[in-house]
Formats: sequence, structure tokens, C-alpha cells
Amino acid sequence: MLNLFDIIDLRPGGFFLWALFLFMGREYVVMQSALSVLRYNRAVDHKIELSKGIQMNIVLLGAPGAGKGTQAAKLIEEFGTAHISTGDMLRAAVKAGTPLGKKAKSYMDAGDLVPDDVIIGLVLERLQEDDTKNGFILDGFPRTSAQAVALDAELSKMDRPLTAALLIDVEPEVIVKRLTSRRMCKECGYIGSVADASCPKCGGEMYQRDDDNEATVRNRLDVYEKSTSPLIDYYRGCNLLVSIDGDRDVDVVYADVKKALGC
Ligand SMILES: [Zn+2]
Repeated sequence: MLNLFDIIDLRPGGFFLWALFLFMGREYVVMQSALSVLRYNRAVDHKIELSKGIQMNIVLLGAPGAGKGTQAAKLIEEFGTAHISTGDMLRAAVKAGTPLGKKAKSYMDAGDLVPDDVIIGLVLERLQEDDTKNGFILDGFPRTSAQAVALDAELSKMDRPLTAALLIDVEPEVIVKRLTSRRMCKECGYIGSVADASCPKCGGEMYQRDDDNEATVRNRLDVYEKSTSPLIDYYRGCNLLVSIDGDRDVDVVYADVKKALGC
């Protein structure tokens, strides 16, 4: 292989090339440092973009038993995203006696559904808290497309629009099988399956929860199907729907979730 000295020696005016090379060498160093400054700036820009990308403002969708809670827990653990479960929040607000909690309680005491604006109020109140800065996962809300429209309007006012509606998709028959074969430990609450003769954690007796019987499970799935189908269509129309096949190993599903969310 030719080295640089061979090239210079082989050509007439070798000295000139040498001088040019030295000059260019200096220019090269200058150019490289200029490029590294550019690269640094681009890296900084990229970092900002990246943190924007990781900011996950997600609505979580999926039938009861689809495993969305498991996936949410993994995202929360890895990315520090805030989990906003409207059911939990409603109970907490009522317990804490906040103005919205009192309002919600008045409906609940009367046996009425808590109106959308009260729940949206709760969610917006929750979004003022610091832990939602890295994003949030909304669980249990919205349940109807009307709620979704109202939520979008409020989030866009806050300049914190949704980044995705994540659907953990599992066929109803698979869920029926999953839930009806579920058994819980009477002693420690461990959730196992019909295959566990006794609790693998504490040896306690395993039992089937009342709402895990087939008729109840099917009814819950019907209710879910009716209320959530329009919601799925709505988010698909907004180009926000991310649908992941949830009928696989938990970690495989999670890897797909992360890939789909771009993180
Ligand atoms: Zn146990």
C-alpha cells in the first residue's frame, strides 16, 4: 500500500505538495474543531428533542384483564411517568375532602355517575403536580369519545397534548380464559392460576374471586367493548392510536410498547 511519502516522492513538485499538505493539515484541525462545535450543538439539540420524545402523555386502553396495569407499572418504573388512575383519584379526593372531592361525593352519595367535568377537573388538578412533568399515563379515563374530546381541548390549552393512546389488545376469549383461571391467595393476595394448588409464596389457600367467574367476566368485557370501541376509533382518527398485541409474554409486549412509543 502507498503511504503519503511515496505519493509525494513520486510526483514532480513534491515539496509543494508537502507544503500544501502541512497547510491543509492545519486547516483540517481548524475545520475539525469547528465541526466538533457544530456536532456538540447538534447533540444538545438532539438531547432536547429526545427529552420531548420521552415525554409520554398517554391514555391507556385495554379490556379488564388485558394486562394494561402491568405495562403501565413497567413504564412508570422505567421512565418516571406519573400514573393517573381516575378511580383511585376519585376515592382519594373524596377522602381528602377537596372541593372537587366534595362535589364528586355528592353525586356518588346520590347514586349518580360523577359528571365528566368533575373528573376532568380532577385530572387537570392532578396535572399541576410536579411528578407529571415527565409525562403521565391516564388509566380509567376517558371512557367515552365525548370525554376524550373534552380532555383533548383541556390538554391543548395546557400545551400538553396526548402523545399516544396505547391499546393493549387481547382477544375477548383469551381474557375470559385468563381471568376465569385466575386464583388468589386468601392469606397474602398473591395472584396465581388454577394450576396453583396452594400459594407458591406463603402456602395459603387459593380461591377464585367472585368477579372472576365466567358470566361476570363476559359481562365486564361487553361493557368495555360497548363503551371503548368508539374511543378506539376516535384515537385512530386522531392518529394517536398505538395498538399492541397483548397476548404474549409480558416482556415481549413491553418491548413492543416501548418501540411503538419511540423510547
Ligand atoms: Zn399467599
